[in-house]
Amino acid sequence: RPASNLPSSYPEDPEDIFVQALSAQSARASLHYLTSIPHMAGTPGDLKMAQYVQAQWQSFGIEAEIQPVPALLSYPREDTRPSLTLEDGSTKSTLFAATLSEPFLPEDSTSDTWLRNHTFLGYAPSGEVKAPLVYANFGRPEDFEVLAEAGVIVEGSIVLMRYGECFRGLKVMNAEKRGAVGALIYSDPEQDGYALGPTYPEGPWRPAFGVQRGSVQFLSLCAGDPGRTALAEDGGSAEDVCGYATEDLKPKIPVLPISYGDATPFLQSLANAGAESPVAPASFQGALNLTYHLGPSRDRVVMATHNREVVGTVWNVIGVVESLHYGRARDRVVVLGNHRDAWVDGAVDPNSGTASQMEVAKGLGALLRRGWRPRRTLVLASWSGEELGLIGSTAWGEAHAAELKEKAVLYVNVDSAVSGPFFHAGATPSLRPLLETLQEDVLHPYSGEPVARNFSAEGGIEILGSGSDYTVFLDHLGISSIDMGAVIDRFKRPYGMYHSTYDSFSWMSRFGDPTFELHVMVAELWGRLALRVADALVLPLEHTAQATALHAYVEELKALVGTSMEVAPESLDLAPLEAAVRAYEDAAEQVTREAAGLRSSGVKQDREQALAALNDRLAFTERRFCAKEGLPRRKWFKHVLQAPGLYLGYAGVSFPGVTQALSDGDWELAQRQVWVAAERVGTAAAYLAWGD
Ligand code: GLU
Ligand code: ZN
Ligand code: ZN
Repeated sequence: RPASNLPSSYPEDPEDIFVQALSAQSARASLHYLTSIPHMAGTPGDLKMAQYVQAQWQSFGIEAEIQPVPALLSYPREDTRPSLTLEDGSTKSTLFAATLSEPFLPEDSTSDTWLRNHTFLGYAPSGEVKAPLVYANFGRPEDFEVLAEAGVIVEGSIVLMRYGECFRGLKVMNAEKRGAVGALIYSDPEQDGYALGPTYPEGPWRPAFGVQRGSVQFLSLCAGDPGRTALAEDGGSAEDVCGYATEDLKPKIPVLPISYGDATPFLQSLANAGAESPVAPASFQGALNLTYHLGPSRDRVVMATHNREVVGTVWNVIGVVESLHYGRARDRVVVLGNHRDAWVDGAVDPNSGTASQMEVAKGLGALLRRGWRPRRTLVLASWSGEELGLIGSTAWGEAHAAELKEKAVLYVNVDSAVSGPFFHAGATPSLRPLLETLQEDVLHPYSGEPVARNFSAEGGIEILGSGSDYTVFLDHLGISSIDMGAVIDRFKRPYGMYHSTYDSFSWMSRFGDPTFELHVMVAELWGRLALRVADALVLPLEHTAQATALHAYVEELKALVGTSMEVAPESLDLAPLEAAVRAYEDAAEQVTREAAGLRSSGVKQDREQALAALNDRLAFTERRFCAKEGLPRRKWFKHVLQAPGLYLGYAGVSFPGVTQALSDGDWELAQRQVWVAAERVGTAAAYLAWGD
């Protein structure tokens, strides 16, 4: 437990005061307001919600300001609709015209918006193409390999891919690289539709007409505004920061997202194409009632997209609860972030997080009214432009890079706070013990038992990949990070209304969290976590846990080298890396002993210097894992321990520089990346042990 920073005569524990201030009723009211109109990044709805968040935080006594961020934005055109048809290969007659729309449902009053008829993918260009169709499963490299082995030509085709397994923008990147001229991405009922249960509006899962919008930026190459508009004012460019020009960070071919209702006739056309269109392997088969074939189709797909890119503005709201501590801790910062922009109403994604964050702000307000101040400064961030490409958070992280590197001890992200009862988290390994303790201390509203024992999602605390706003903090700046929330599926499969018009207040109040107690649960976890870190005498970062994770990463690497050697019988010299990991482990044990010593000696004025120095070592060791030159082919990603998979995007991979080189068969690069990683881990070990 952190020592109380209340006046010493104060009898209560700050965490108790915080928790007492939370309420399901006010979380419900916040969510109701936040989901009352669509609020895509950079639109009047987005600004209105920014003003709402600012005003609420201010009403709790938190200083808050709206910070405009100029950015390259992408929208569907309002005056025309996309089109997608299937044309008979010989007669040229139209066999099917896709609806490309999500119908208005009387059961869901907010579903009546123009956006439902303009389903699109962010940063997809406008364009028209006509070509035969092929089916590439999830659009991963290994899926395209299956097509290549079957002799199915992707070049010149339109590629149909299903959602799941990897970030949609990278599906498009993978297809484009192989010469596709267009792409369609659909939601197969196996991933988030009837295979999981009853569909909306009867149940929570995706109906035949539900569409997943989303950005198709090439996220794994560089996050943030692909135009780097905010930097351009100072003469910067995407090329400088990312190593890629703006055009190379997003697709050049037209792309559309479609429902499985719209996808079915296209899959049927592949099945009708006879012997030239082989049956797809079992791993390609989805849950539709037909046999999936690889193609090519005899019929032609004709598609047209009408999107527009504009230089506009998104709005971050930044709130500050300043420390008034007399020592160095005052100059240290914990950042709590959530994005606010949504594809439509965004009840789950992201505003369940915004409503939880609002409760956190309210709890902090209750503490402030009692005269409490945190030992370390707390920053609340309400990002915009996340959906298009983590724009707001990345711009803020880049603009404050120097200050953040010097001051930030932790970034805690909550994107979608609630789609159901199963708690899950990803975190840098040194934060895992703290998260585990929290899950013991917070009770789940459904069971009355600790979250750790009930309704904890499968798979434990994960390595962070990307796809949300922690990316700039962890991967670019080397700040220890957490991402968490509660999900509908124990196995963390996406909720049925992800990025749909029906991700609405109706959905949430019927299926996701009817009592809003789960919103409170996440707020409690978030707030207790923030207080424990902000108020701690000794920061609760456990480097022994980080050392354990490093050992595991090395073991995984050895296994990977083993399997790669079957292909190319070479070997990597991992000895320098193993030595560095051992040094890191020793440093972690040493610092843990020092921390225990200081903890037990209590709050003494004369300990302040020693505490400050120790805390800096605990917090800033993470920075040492960043290599100045970044990862091969993606210099913006600087962390050598983890990164989003180059062709996957959401999922994180360990020792990304090494593993990517290995999977590309580049042994020389892999060896050089082993040395880079060893050097970084060794530097981290030295800093952890001695502070330099
Ligand atoms: N979270 C959003 C998504 O998964 C945005 C990710 C990104 O563009 O980086 O679509
Ligand atoms: Zn989100
Ligand atoms: Zn989203």
